[in-house]
Amino acid sequence: MTKEQLLRQLPAVDAVLKHRLVEDRLQQYPRSLVLEAIREVLGNYRQSILTGAANLSFSNEQLISDVVQTIEQKGHSSLCRVINATGVVLHTNLGRAVLSKRAQLAIVQAASGYCNLELNLTSGERGSRYSHVEGLLTRLTGAEAALVVNNNAAAVLLALSAVAKDREVIVSRGQLVEIGGSFRIPEVMAQSGAKLVEVGTTNKTYLADYERAITDQTGLLLKVHPSNYRVVGFTHETSLEELVKLGRAYNLPVMDDLGSGALLRLNAPGLSSEPTVSASVASGADIVTFSGDKLLGGPQSGLIVGKRCWIDRMKKHPLNRALRIDKLTLAALEATLREYLDPEGAQQNIPTLAMLTMPAMVIKERAEELAEQLKERLAGQAELKIITGNSQVGGGAMPLAELPTWLVRVKPIHLTSQAVAAALRGKKPAVLVRIQDDALLIDLRTVSDQEIPALIMALETSLNWGGRSE
Ligand SMILES: *Cc1c(COP(=O)(O)O)cnc(C)c1O
Repeated sequence: MTKEQLLRQLPAVDAVLKHRLVEDRLQQYPRSLVLEAIREVLGNYRQSILTGAANLSFSNEQLISDVVQTIEQKGHSSLCRVINATGVVLHTNLGRAVLSKRAQLAIVQAASGYCNLELNLTSGERGSRYSHVEGLLTRLTGAEAALVVNNNAAAVLLALSAVAKDREVIVSRGQLVEIGGSFRIPEVMAQSGAKLVEVGTTNKTYLADYERAITDQTGLLLKVHPSNYRVVGFTHETSLEELVKLGRAYNLPVMDDLGSGALLRLNAPGLSSEPTVSASVASGADIVTFSGDKLLGGPQSGLIVGKRCWIDRMKKHPLNRALRIDKLTLAALEATLREYLDPEGAQQNIPTLAMLTMPAMVIKERAEELAEQLKERLAGQAELKIITGNSQVGGGAMPLAELPTWLVRVKPIHLTSQAVAAALRGKKPAVLVRIQDDALLIDLRTVSDQEIPALIMALETSLNWGGRSE
């Protein structure tokens, strides 16, 4: 067929729209989107005919199927469910903490009607959005006062701006942290208008280094938790207690950016080294900042606890309005904090804590059961094995913690692991796995029991249909 003949064979937009499979989609997707998809596919066909080989041909079924696929690609929501089989518990790219049942419910309730966000129901007068969590935070950490903002980066920025603008802030060279995604202490400092004064060396900073740097321009002593790295070997860090003593002697506030900030000491080997918020408050820190969606296991938020005079200053600072937390986050945060009133319940009900403390033996049993279920379904397509390995905390917390785990190793026979992994990412829900030595590794620490049937289905279809989506 000549190019002209082929072009003449292309159906009109209206004709495609009337096809049963396309017309059906109008019930689910807006007309404008369906039309856009049809025009796009027709345009692509026209382009390939014009640029392609002369003997090119196409079928009407093929064209309709491409249109339907394009409609569905354009129509489904971009943010979608992912099954995290990587074993990285706080995976920043996958949304960090998974919320507890109560926190999920709290979001739905706050979202589906009006709420007393800034209204005191007893007096009928204007209230504060922070009042819903301030009491919980002071009770759980022992601090005098508390404030919450959008994330910990915002918390640090607000604290520095409100406490140390135009003044010098002394930090150890060993603590000039970069957290993934452009949070760097020197840059946040510059943004806040405070002046960074670095002291000590990468591996050793003594109390005397801080003391020597104090001038009449000094406004704050800052300690930053090296969340995502460790300096090991020939090292010395000045303790928070020492810094607090120094701060008192010179009448300077001391701030501790804990990063992750655990509210409890976790009941699992290797996890007890993370400093807790209450320990930091008890050491006398004036301001302590930490994330809501790292080890705390709540929604994205930045928590600030400490002495009332400093927290009040931050509450009144104009930046606070720009960084303020919304009602859905607040609802989830309150529900998550309430879980901590019963520390044992918290370890079971907060998914982050439950996953981190899941015993390796439990993971082994679940892995064996999964392998058993996969055996027949993947026969001839993949070799299955259970092996030992480590899960990770993730989220820039406890980089050296090794969480012993058991992995289901799936080695494809006919396909590359990369191709299968790509097919798994295309599923609904998408599935993320680890790849090592051309095999897929599945860590059930981060997969819930309810997700297992979808995981099995995704593996089966990805391996059996040559990695193509069905
Ligand atoms: C993670 C982290 C931050 C940033 O917290 P976000 O909640 O991700 O904004 C700041 N400081 C430290 C030490 C951290 O670990």
